[in-house]
Amino acid sequence: DIKTKPKEIELNESYLKITHEKLLSLKKGHKVWRFLEKRGINENTVKEFELGFSSGNEVEKSLDDTLFETKMAVEMGLMNNGKEFFYNRLIIPIKDPKGMIVGFAGRAIDEDTKPKYVNSKENKFFKKSKILYLFDKSKKYIEENDMAIITEGFFDAIAMHNSGYKNTVAVLGSNLTKDHAFELMKKTNKVITMFDMDSAGEKATLSAIDTLFSKNFQIAVANYEAKDPDELIRKTGKKNLAEVLKKSYKFHEYIIDVNKKHYNLDNEFAMEQYLKEMARWYKKFETYKRYEIMDAFITKISKDFLKDKELIEKILREHSK
Ligand code: ATP
Ligand code: MN
Ligand code: MN
Ligand code: MN
Repeated sequence: DIKTKPKEIELNESYLKITHEKLLSLKKGHKVWRFLEKRGINENTVKEFELGFSSGNEVEKSLDDTLFETKMAVEMGLMNNGKEFFYNRLIIPIKDPKGMIVGFAGRAIDEDTKPKYVNSKENKFFKKSKILYLFDKSKKYIEENDMAIITEGFFDAIAMHNSGYKNTVAVLGSNLTKDHAFELMKKTNKVITMFDMDSAGEKATLSAIDTLFSKNFQIAVANYEAKDPDELIRKTGKKNLAEVLKKSYKFHEYIIDVNKKHYNLDNEFAMEQYLKEMARWYKKFETYKRYEIMDAFITKISKDFLKDKELIEKILREHSK
C-alpha cells in the first residue's frame, strides 16, 4: 500500500493486538471467559472477531514513550483521566468498510457495571452514524446474496455470522441513517431488518423502513419470539432462524400490524388517529409512485378491519390531504 496509514489507526491496531493477546492469555476460568461462555462465544469466535480484554495497562503497552502518542491515546478516547477507558471490559473492534480499525466498543462483563457498553469518542475516523458493524466482512456476502440483514447489536451480528448468515451487519443501537443506506446500496437494494423485539426495536424498525423506502430498497421485517437475534439463536438454534427469516413480514404489512398495538382500536377516536398514521404512510408510497404497495396496503387494512376497500382508500386520501 502506497498511502501511509494514519498514526491514529496504527495506534488502534496496536491496542487491539495487545488487548486481543491479553484475552487469549487469560485462563478459561477468568470472568471474561465465563462471560463469553455464557454467551456461546468460544476461542475461535474470539479470534475471528478479534475480541480483546483490557486489564488496565494495555494502552501503555501499545504506545512508544513519546508524548505525541500519549496525547493521541487521549484524543482517540483510549485514555480518560489518566485511566484506561475500556478497563475491565470486553473489547470489540469497529472497522470501516475497508477494514481499518476506527474505534472500539467495550462491553461490561459484570452485569451490574453501568453503562453496559461504552464506545470510542467520535472522531474524524469514527462516526457511529456512518459505520455498520461487520460491513467490512459482510459486504462480499451481501453482494453475493443480493441481500443484507440488519441487526441492532454486536452480539446479534456475531451470532448471525456464526449461524451462516455472513451477510449481516449491525447499526450499533442507533437509528439506521441515510449514510448507512448509501453504504448498503453499493452492494444491494434488498434488506431484512432484524431489530430487537422490544419497543425500541419497533421504533428503530419503522425509522429504518422510512429511510430505506425513500432510497428504493425492498424491505422485509423479521418477527420472532426472543429479545434479540442473539438470544433467539441461543434459544432455538439455526434451523429455526431460517424459518424466521423466510416468514419475514412484508414491510407494509408490518406497518399496519405493529401500529395496531399502539392504538386502542375499540375507541373511535383512537381508530381515527390510527388511520391518520396509515394515511401518512399511504401518502409516502404515493410520493414514490409505489402503486402496487398502495394497493396491497389498503387491501390488507380493509380485510383486517372488515371494511370496504374503496371506503378505506377514501378515508386515507381524506386524511392525507
Ligand atoms: P447484550 O446482548 O450485550 O446485552 P445488546 O446488543 O442486546 O447487548 P441492546 O441494549 O439491545 O444491547 O443495544 C443494542 C446495541 O446498542 C448494542 O449492541 C450497542 O451497540 C448499543 N448500546 C447499547 N447500550 C449502549 C450504551 N449504554 N452506550 C452505547 N451504546 C449502547
Ligand atoms: Mn435493543
Ligand atoms: Mn439487544
Ligand atoms: Mn443482546
